[in-house]
Amino acid sequence: MKKYICVTIASFLLAACNQTAKKGSQSNTQGSFKQFENEFIEKLWLTYPTWATGVGYHKYDSLLIAYDEAARQNELKFAQWTEDELKQFNFDSLTSSDKTDYKMVQNFIDGLRFNNNEFKSYEWDPSTYNLGDGIFKILDYKQVTIDERLKNLSKKLAKVPAYFEAAKKNINNPTWIHTKLAIDQNKGTLYFFKSPFADSLKASKLNEAEIAEFKHYADAAQKAIEGYIDWLQKDILDKSDSAQMRSFRIGKELYSKKFVLDIDSRYGADDVYKKAEVRKDYLHSDMNRLTDLMWSKYFKNEKAPVDTLVKIKMMIDKLSLQHCKRDKFLETIEKQLPELTAFIISHHIIDPDTTKPLKVRKTPEYTAGVAGAGINSPGPYDKDAVTYYNVTPLTKYTEEKAESYLREYNDYVLQILNIHEAIPGHYTQLIYANRSPSIIKTVFSNGAMVEGWACYVERMMMEEGYNTSPEMQLFYDKWNLREACNFILDYNVHCSKWSEEQAMDLLVKEAFQQTAEAKEKWKRVSLTQVQLTSYFTGLTEIYELREEAKKKQGAQFNLKKFHEQFLSYGSAPVKEIRELMIK
Ligand code: ZN
Ligand code: ZN
Repeated sequence: MKKYICVTIASFLLAACNQTAKKGSQSNTQGSFKQFENEFIEKLWLTYPTWATGVGYHKYDSLLIAYDEAARQNELKFAQWTEDELKQFNFDSLTSSDKTDYKMVQNFIDGLRFNNNEFKSYEWDPSTYNLGDGIFKILDYKQVTIDERLKNLSKKLAKVPAYFEAAKKNINNPTWIHTKLAIDQNKGTLYFFKSPFADSLKASKLNEAEIAEFKHYADAAQKAIEGYIDWLQKDILDKSDSAQMRSFRIGKELYSKKFVLDIDSRYGADDVYKKAEVRKDYLHSDMNRLTDLMWSKYFKNEKAPVDTLVKIKMMIDKLSLQHCKRDKFLETIEKQLPELTAFIISHHIIDPDTTKPLKVRKTPEYTAGVAGAGINSPGPYDKDAVTYYNVTPLTKYTEEKAESYLREYNDYVLQILNIHEAIPGHYTQLIYANRSPSIIKTVFSNGAMVEGWACYVERMMMEEGYNTSPEMQLFYDKWNLREACNFILDYNVHCSKWSEEQAMDLLVKEAFQQTAEAKEKWKRVSLTQVQLTSYFTGLTEIYELREEAKKKQGAQFNLKKFHEQFLSYGSAPVKEIRELMIK
């Protein structure tokens, strides 16, 4: 892994030296595009050092950019430089892999400009400003000594006061919910200033002066974070009527643009929305069939209600009682993982990488707020680091909330969750993505491809017979329904001003969700935009692509080969992978 970083840095330096040579010639060889990519990536990390730390590129750990007007101008200059560079290449003569990279870089530049000029989340989303993950990644970077980590961190912490000063200047009429989130997350970050810093200092060999310096900057940084939290609470929340604050709904116009940029699908938002509605209807009818099939087993002679949705809900509620105990949640997840690995091997689904460790752990405090369970995977530069399966423990929940959550993640759904998050879902996909030689595809990983893959494998595992019971099929349908409803919800909340009541109606009545889950989803649709559409859109595109490949290849089609080839391109948009696979 060390070797990998050295090679990368060396090629960056080389790229810088050869810059003038390349500019003179109009050569469009593969070599010069690689050279452009290296230059681009290096400039990218210099512009976004905290992002670099996040993906495991630690050269700029000591930097922290205050996002002021100068920083925004710098971003736009970087976008212009990139665009000028791209224009030097004759697109048609690039390799197919470089063509994809080209488009992904262009997409990134478009997104950067969109946020800078139109979307401006830095003005209305105070949770943009949070150092938790950056601090964690620096402290956790075991490739250098603790002394070196602390020295880098010390320099970074020195810039924290200016960072939050810039944040306060940027913030203008923020939304209530993003302000709340910023307060919660920054409170989480304060955790580092207690035992983690003290323990690290104790473990280090820093001299007295260095320790004093670290403590000085850490104190100032802590005060700046506390000051920011205070400011958000007292100057913004306490002084505003939450109903009068900016709406988190971004509206149809921005939504359509953001969908194009973030999802990068061959379909528009309206097209996929229609597919989601069709899928919802199909799933309701299939769930009705399965409920009828199982009725007498679970309800004996009790008469089934006429209303199908009510009837399906009764069956789901009955089966949902089969769940683990609240203090065994993490353990139950952990136990299933080896079983999934065994299945994908015996059924020739995909080669697992058993050399890469996967650890189930409690979700760290500083990221608390959005998801209940998720994969925290090493980035492209940290390929051998530990992959964490973050699970939010139920310890802080009330008895009622925990029970609601456990029924949602009952014995059946927990299996689907593990397929989705771990094997052969996110965990497997990200291992393959990190093998991809294209840093661009790894860094700009496409959310719809990543989520689409995790959703696709749920369906595929069912088709391959992972669990053929009607109970499991019913819960797969429910899970799939959730993916379709995520789309329907996101689209309607942001574009059609759906109220919380309308949202709960869809989630609870039509998607059969528990109240806790539905409330959590409402929070998510309020905090994010378009992201919830990535599941259904990606799944739809990947499934269609597989069916297309099957048709084309006939008897030659091999599922394992298809999966491994599909993942070999890295986390590129599905439409670009399609270009590479189907010719
Ligand atoms: Zn129970
Ligand atoms: Zn996922």
